[in-house]
Amino acid sequence: MGRYTGPVCRQCRREGQKLFLKGARCYMTKCPIEQGTGCPGMHVGRRAKKMSEYGMQLRQKQSLRRQYGMGELQFRRFFEEALRKGGITGENLLQMLEMRLDNIVYRLGLAPSRRAARQFVLHGHVLVNGRKASVPSIVVKVGDTVAVKDNAKSKEAANRSVEAATSAQLPVWMEFDEANLTAQVLAVPTREQIAPIVDERTIVELYSR
Ligand code: SF4
Repeated sequence: MGRYTGPVCRQCRREGQKLFLKGARCYMTKCPIEQGTGCPGMHVGRRAKKMSEYGMQLRQKQSLRRQYGMGELQFRRFFEEALRKGGITGENLLQMLEMRLDNIVYRLGLAPSRRAARQFVLHGHVLVNGRKASVPSIVVKVGDTVAVKDNAKSKEAANRSVEAATSAQLPVWMEFDEANLTAQVLAVPTREQIAPIVDERTIVELYSR
């Protein structure tokens, strides 16, 4: 299945929770979830069916996948890699998702949403360890530096986003030199620092069926 290209907010409505896919708008009262807009296609007044355990696990997986803007196959590949690493698979998965390059760009406030961060990376505005990195899904490592390319267009777009990033909080596991738009990854984030919107153990259970 390819990447979703339909209405963005519909994905949050489907999952019944905020996935923060639209930047500043997600923190406003205009957000359909804030307004209590229900699941797409559900008739007002119709009672939702009780969800099965499988259904619940599926919704958790879809929420996390959609939050990070990934296709089904790519998400599954991340899961397989998390499994291979040994240790706690669910936590490995969260950490790998969080250390994706597009997520790092978003967390630093260089782009207003993960979707915008993905575009920012794809358009070649980002360097990892001094080299151009235009693949949003690469997983950065501890000690890597992530910087905005030294040209006016790249810096202007990043600065605009950093100035507007009122609700973004710089994660403690990264160090950010705002003046030079350069960051370093100091550590792998813990589960508490990531604060996932789902219970990742249900995703491990789903894929173990
Ligand atoms: Fe739309 Fe953001 Fe609200 Fe999701 S959280 S419904 S993307 S405004």
